[in-house]
Amino acid sequence: MIVTKSTEEIELMRESALIVSKTLGVIAKEIKPGVTTLQLDKLAEEFIRDNGAIPGFLGLYDFPNTLCVSPNSQVVHGIPNDTPLVEGDIVSIDCGALKNEFYGDHAYTFAVGEIAPETKKLLQVTKESLYVGIREFKLGNRVGDVGFAIQQYCEAQNYGVVRELVGHGLGKTMHEDPEMPNYGRRGRGKKFLEGQVVAIEPMINLGTHRIKQHKDGWTITTLDNKPSAHFEHDVAIVNGKPELLSTFKYIYEALGIESDEENEFRN
Ligand code: MG
Ligand code: MG
Repeated sequence: MIVTKSTEEIELMRESALIVSKTLGVIAKEIKPGVTTLQLDKLAEEFIRDNGAIPGFLGLYDFPNTLCVSPNSQVVHGIPNDTPLVEGDIVSIDCGALKNEFYGDHAYTFAVGEIAPETKKLLQVTKESLYVGIREFKLGNRVGDVGFAIQQYCEAQNYGVVRELVGHGLGKTMHEDPEMPNYGRRGRGKKFLEGQVVAIEPMINLGTHRIKQHKDGWTITTLDNKPSAHFEHDVAIVNGKPELLSTFKYIYEALGIESDEENEFRN
């Protein structure tokens, strides 16, 4: 069942989403060769708690940390550890926060120093595919329209679209209806509703779309060990149109990047 949110609830959800956005901004400043993903995890947990929220992933389905940190061929759900990042890595960081009973949940894939041109392009295309999907999250459309748009955009550039992991409705629970696959058929699936909030999160691979699960029970990697990228935003339907609740602006401030990519999704 899809649980729509009132205007007041959407404002609370924006607050939760922005705590995650700011956490990712704090992390962005620290991502460099030599830092360990466990150090990033500690920073994130402190920052979230200092902002009166609770880490959204810690303990959720028994996940052991605040961040899911997935370098290189890891797709999602990587567990922070003592291995330092090295120049040329990419690292997907997914973060959740719970405040006022509502969850925020979003993700960004960072470059560690200079990365290979083909990897840089993977990051650009994956991030753009997120916006391609968000444009379809509006009244009159259905779940399949978002997935179709993301899949078309990425497969046209020969990337693999992960099937087994999907976006989701978001609210007082981390994973609500509907599931939001990054593949699909136009005009299929549940209709979108005013006040609906979802996390849209393409997971896109440089090579095959196929993945494997590691023995730790969490980490997902690409079957061919090629890199994978993951970008996620929290989005509400307001006045029939998609409105971003999360933002990458704190990341961009930290990295000195100018971007107007989010402007079209602000009502
Ligand atoms: Mg997430
Ligand atoms: Mg999510």
